[in-house]
Amino acid sequence: VRTAGRVLALLALGASGIGAAEPVATAAEVAAAEQLRDAALRSDEAWALVSSLTTTVGPRLAGTPGDRAAVEWAVEALASGGFANVRRSEVVVPRWVRGEAQFELLDPVALPMVTAALGGSVGTGDEGLTAELLRVESVDALRALPAGVARGRIVYFAGRTARTRDGSGFARAVRARTEGPSAAAAVGAVGVVIRSIGTSDDRIAHTGTLVYNIAQTRIPAVAISNPDADLLERRLASGRPLRARLRVTARDLPQQRSANVIAEIPGTDRAGEIVLIGAHLDSWDLGHGALDNGAGVAIAIAAARLIGQSAVRPRRTIRVVLFANEEYGLSGSGRYVADELESLARHAFALEADMGAGPVFRLSARVSSRDWALVQQIHRVVGGLGVELGSNDATGGADTTALRRRGVPILMPQLDATRYFDVHHSANDTLDKVDPQALRQSVAVFAVAAFLAARFEDTPGRLPAEATR
Ligand SMILES: [Zn+2]
Repeated sequence: VRTAGRVLALLALGASGIGAAEPVATAAEVAAAEQLRDAALRSDEAWALVSSLTTTVGPRLAGTPGDRAAVEWAVEALASGGFANVRRSEVVVPRWVRGEAQFELLDPVALPMVTAALGGSVGTGDEGLTAELLRVESVDALRALPAGVARGRIVYFAGRTARTRDGSGFARAVRARTEGPSAAAAVGAVGVVIRSIGTSDDRIAHTGTLVYNIAQTRIPAVAISNPDADLLERRLASGRPLRARLRVTARDLPQQRSANVIAEIPGTDRAGEIVLIGAHLDSWDLGHGALDNGAGVAIAIAAARLIGQSAVRPRRTIRVVLFANEEYGLSGSGRYVADELESLARHAFALEADMGAGPVFRLSARVSSRDWALVQQIHRVVGGLGVELGSNDATGGADTTALRRRGVPILMPQLDATRYFDVHHSANDTLDKVDPQALRQSVAVFAVAAFLAARFEDTPGRLPAEATR
């Protein structure tokens, strides 16, 4: 039966005139995948999920009451959604309190700016600190300065975030946030202010975690809104020294308990092998966590549920993993890999939704070259939704990076990030920014990809393990 189906699939392929790739799904499997796609395009389930999570829970920074409420919400959503093996796996998470953040230019008169502390920033003490500003474009530019120039200064990182569809503009800019504070401390600076890592013209500041280097003094760090950064640049253009005052009351509290929430659509003859769909449950505190990452949570749950309703059963088990604390240190991802060390070899493929609500514009992957035919097969089902075929060098998302580095193959539907960084990690990350039609299309692509991966006849090849930094 299987062979006959393959022949039919081949004939259908020939008729459609697309490529000469070897079909890796039977005609029945392709038909079931097409039905999943079409059902997703008619379904508002993902919308209902992201609406529910943002409305009933809202912000859910790791270790807060909102985080705990999100775990309860997820367990309830998955259990009532017909999933099997719904469970929580305890994760210890850091707990950081934002407090207040103020940044103001002095001279000739005080001019306060819209400011947010970077995640993990230490405080300044209640008095705050006053110092002369030193403008640099980037971390590399700071490191290239002559010794002593930054001593006693507040370093201002001026780099802008380029608007891109694939998020690469963000990836280039974000080093000022992650590495900037310790790079500035290393050359004697007393504080850091960055232009928001984001593309919004609104007067909002974008937060996000910094990463202190344990070898350096921890200095306070904040972001200012892009329009405020524009004003700062105009002031600096005069060439006159400019003093600023920085006050941050952020602090760390003791670690808290959170959880990865896991649920499954059991497979049939290959139930021991896993196709993982991941998203993270936590969010930053400034907005409602709608695009980051309520939308990803909704895509993962809705796609898996649709597969569970398919008449053609997934052979492998579809596992939804809602990771704890992605934003402030990837705690849940680390915990998951530690919990699953024995079973990582049975993780056939991993997918992750963590770049907003979509639509998916490209299908990329990182699979063994002989399994590329699966990616082409998925693409033949979803190409008509405006999805281009990408390349086989995908990095996956933040939470699946640890899996990729241990050899788990990655399927990566890339969500369109053109507008995502307007709201990312800001007070504007609210439900009205989620496009219901884009969300449906994203669910369709994730459902088709995970379903065909779960039906894939071959045993997927492993990736070479990568060195971890
Ligand atoms: Zn995220």
